[in-house]
Amino acid sequence: MAAKLIKGAEVAREIRAELKEEVELIRSKCGVVPGLVTILVGEDPASQSYVRGKQKTAHELGFHSVQDSQPADLSEEKLLALIDRYNKDPQIHGILVQLPLPRHISENRILLAIDPRKDVDAFHPVNVGKLVIGDPDYLPCTPAGIQELMVRSGIQVEGAEVVVVGRSNIVGKPISIMLMQKGRGANATVTVCHTRTRDVKSHCRRADILIVAAGVTEYVKGDWLKEGAVVVDVGVNEVGMTPEGKRILKGDVAFDEAVQVAGAITPVPGGVGPMTITMLMKNTVRACKLQGNIED
Ligand code: NAP
Repeated sequence: MAAKLIKGAEVAREIRAELKEEVELIRSKCGVVPGLVTILVGEDPASQSYVRGKQKTAHELGFHSVQDSQPADLSEEKLLALIDRYNKDPQIHGILVQLPLPRHISENRILLAIDPRKDVDAFHPVNVGKLVIGDPDYLPCTPAGIQELMVRSGIQVEGAEVVVVGRSNIVGKPISIMLMQKGRGANATVTVCHTRTRDVKSHCRRADILIVAAGVTEYVKGDWLKEGAVVVDVGVNEVGMTPEGKRILKGDVAFDEAVQVAGAITPVPGGVGPMTITMLMKNTVRACKLQGNIED
């Protein structure tokens, strides 16, 4: 039997409608709107497209949204000065620096310069630390999207054997920490696999919930899955272009095989991707409330 599709695009639409109402409520009651700046250095087409998507969504939700595009040869000092300006700007509650940055700029130094209260990507060590101790202000966007998608799809995470393939700071590490915490959509038993794991397949076969964020096209095959498992495919791999010039994307899971074995599966595209931007918006609304001492 074919697996149920976990439609991230639909869930993301539902959350955005809720956020739009919340933004309107904050505006009418408190006279403020969430402010988000996206800073893009250089002209990388993929980064431009991501930033456009974030700005478009922020605009649709009624945010004060600023797109700050800077030339590829911008010095690190100038970028630090720009961040300092937005750190002090009361109309800006969230600062997002689009990664990757040009090589002459230290990503680490830049991420450290963002005021943790405005760090809506949740990459600052203060926010990473708060996540680890189970007291986060903000959750990193892609892991938060994965967790929310599972909760809203009625997937039982508590007590589940979760296997995460990938240990990046952006996806693998934070999602594994979040799912093993106490709380809603968590309390799982988590195993993390990476390139030094001896037998990735054997771990995958044990998983009630398998989360794959390896960045390897169709890496996980159908016979790596336990019958009825929930499969969350985070991978976004460009494998070509349509004659109309649209990117053809594939996940990290061989979808056609996996859909025959899994109980539920996220498609690529239309699964985790739309949730990521939505969670960025959610963090920006939260940032606005935290900075304005606005109660939930
Ligand atoms: P990354 O930084 O390249 O990390 C990949 C991780 O996977 C690493 O920890 C690596 O292990 C592990 N890995 C790679 N090949 C493996 C293999 N053959 N067996 C086991 N582990 C393997 O990537 P990322 O930033 O986490 O992103 C992962 C994927 O998710 C990419 O396709 C990316 O485009 C996608 N993504 C999607 C979204 C979204 O919103 N949908 C957001 C972020 C990322 P080592 O640590 O040992 O090298």
